[in-house]
Amino acid sequence: MKTVSVVVSVYNEEQVLEAFYRETSRVLEQQRQKDWDYELLFVNDGSQDGSPAVLGRLAAANPRVKVISFSRNFGHEAAMIAGIDYSRGDGIICMDADLQHPPQCIPEILEKFDEGYQVVSMARTRNESAGWFKNLASPAFYRLINLLSDVKLESNASDFFGISRKVSEVLKKHYRERVRFLRGYVQNVGFKKTVIPYEARARAAGKSKYSIRKLMRFSVNTILCFSNLPLKLGIYAGVFAALLGVGVMVYTLFTRGGAPSGYATIVVLNCFMFAILFLIVGIIGEYISILFAELKDRPIYIVEDTENLESGGNLPE
Ligand code: UDP
Ligand code: MG
Repeated sequence: MKTVSVVVSVYNEEQVLEAFYRETSRVLEQQRQKDWDYELLFVNDGSQDGSPAVLGRLAAANPRVKVISFSRNFGHEAAMIAGIDYSRGDGIICMDADLQHPPQCIPEILEKFDEGYQVVSMARTRNESAGWFKNLASPAFYRLINLLSDVKLESNASDFFGISRKVSEVLKKHYRERVRFLRGYVQNVGFKKTVIPYEARARAAGKSKYSIRKLMRFSVNTILCFSNLPLKLGIYAGVFAALLGVGVMVYTLFTRGGAPSGYATIVVLNCFMFAILFLIVGIIGEYISILFAELKDRPIYIVEDTENLESGGNLPE
C-alpha cells in the first residue's frame, strides 16, 4: 500500500484546526479503505495561541498525526520545507490549515499520482477571501516576474500542490536556499506535471497571516531570486545617461555661446540622475543581502519538538 504525506503549516490556527482535521481525516480515512495510507504532518510554525495544545490532542488520538514544532516562527515556506523533509510518503501534498485548500481535492491528486504524474499543481480559479488588492496585485506580480526571469510561473498557482517522493528528494537536496520561492521551484523542477483547477474557499475562521507588507517583501525576494535582470539596470541607465549627455552637448554647441542660463535644467537633471544612481545602488544592496544570507548558511528552520515521529524522518544529510 502506498502512503501519502499531507503537510500542513500551522501558525496561530487554533480556531480552524479541529474543523480542518475533521474534514481532512475523513477524506484520508476513506482513501485508506481503498489504496492510499496516510500520514498527516502538522508543522507548528511557532504559534503563540492554543494551536500546540490542539495538535497535541490530535496526535495523542491518532498515531497517523505527526507534529513538528519549530522553536519560533520561521514562515510558511520554512514550514512546508520542514514538512517535506520529514515526510515519508510516496506522494506529498502541501496545504494550508485554514480550509482554503479543499481536502476534497486530495483523492483527485492521488489519482494523478497513480497515473504517474510527479508534480500536481493546483490552480486557483477563484479566491473568495482575498481582498481587491491581492486580486489585482497577484496577476500583476506574476506578469512582472515572467517578464523579468527566464522561468515561467503560473499566475494562479498556490501553495497547494502534490509532489512525488522523487521530486521531494530533489527539493531536499538541491533547493536549500535561504531566500526562496518554493512554489516556483515546484513548477520548475520539470518531471511529468499536471494542473488541477480548484476553487479556493473563504478562510474557515481566524485571520490571514500575510499582511500587505509581508507580501511586498515576498514579491521582491521572489524577483531577486529568479532574475538578475535588475542588476543590468545599471548598464541601461549608463547608456541612457551617455546618450543624454551627447544630446545636451550637441545642443550647446549649436546654440554657440548663446546657451540658455539653464539653472532649472541642471537641477532637474541632477536630481534625476542621482535618483537613478541610488535606485541601482539599492538594487545591488538587495542582492548583496541575499548573498549575505546564503553565506551565513543559517538553518531554514529549527525544530524544538516532534510528536509521533520516532527517528526524525528522512532528513537531508
Ligand atoms: N503560516 C505559517 N507561518 C506563517 C504564516 C502563515 O505557517 O508565518 C501558515 C498559516 O497557518 C496557513 C498558511 O500558512 O496555514 C497560509 O497562511 P494564510 O492563510 O494566513 O495566508 P493567505 O491564505 O491569506 O494567503
Ligand atoms: Mg489562507
